[in-house]
Amino acid sequence: MLKLKNIKKQFGDLTVLDGIDLELKKGEVAAIIGPSGTGKSTLLRCINLLETPTKGTIEIDGFSVDSKNLSPKDCIELRKKTAMVFQNYSLFKNKTVLENIMMPMTLVQKKDKKVAEEEAMALLKKVGLADKRDYYPSRLSGGQQQRIGIARALAVHPEIILFDEPTSSLDPELVNEVLELIRELSNEHECTMLIVTHEMRFALEIANKIIFMEKGKVVEEGSPNELLYNSTNERTRSYFKQFI
Ligand code: ADP
Ligand code: MG
Repeated sequence: MLKLKNIKKQFGDLTVLDGIDLELKKGEVAAIIGPSGTGKSTLLRCINLLETPTKGTIEIDGFSVDSKNLSPKDCIELRKKTAMVFQNYSLFKNKTVLENIMMPMTLVQKKDKKVAEEEAMALLKKVGLADKRDYYPSRLSGGQQQRIGIARALAVHPEIILFDEPTSSLDPELVNEVLELIRELSNEHECTMLIVTHEMRFALEIANKIIFMEKGKVVEEGSPNELLYNSTNERTRSYFKQFI
């Protein structure tokens, strides 16, 4: 479903991604774990072409693009297959909850407004916030805003959802409602999920694959058990020791 080949990203002299290869199967839930500054966010941003990789190819659901010859049309096509959930929610502050979810449907997918509204309401029910449809984001808690962020990501029926530390801006007591929602989605196996998170226990519980990244490289990937308890890689062992 997702296939990354030799993705490199440089900002000037700084190499942030140093040849990332990664494959995910349809419906797979993978967690990226690693120290900060390692390039995790940059990797997610390269997958949906918010950043242009310096080198490498990205394939999603059979559609492949090479960083060497990216046309605007390719970018649009690839972006349609992805959705991103950001650390800081990134909701439009001057739009209501319902409008926030409708926007990608009317603007990107060119759906009829009535249809979009019906679908947005169904998504609001799914994330348990139907009664907040006419609220502006500032009236919601961080946890509620992030649930809206997730509903908006689902609105475009992406092949893959990219979560960038979805709970790290939240007060501790609000983390669970968001993790619970992500857990529910992962159980539905409808779309592939790639989640950057520091919530190790959560990652171990829902991910069938853990990807350990450090300094722009994938050090090791495997099942939670393999990485946490059975790795023979010295870097992996020393990083994961803190979680055992
Ligand atoms: P992580 O998400 O693992 O914490 P990031 O992908 O955010 O890491 O950042 C990796 C490195 O790339 C950091 O050193 C960061 O300063 C640098 N970086 C990220 N985005 C840019 C940018 N737009 N311009 C220059 N450097 C950047
Ligand atoms: Mg980051």
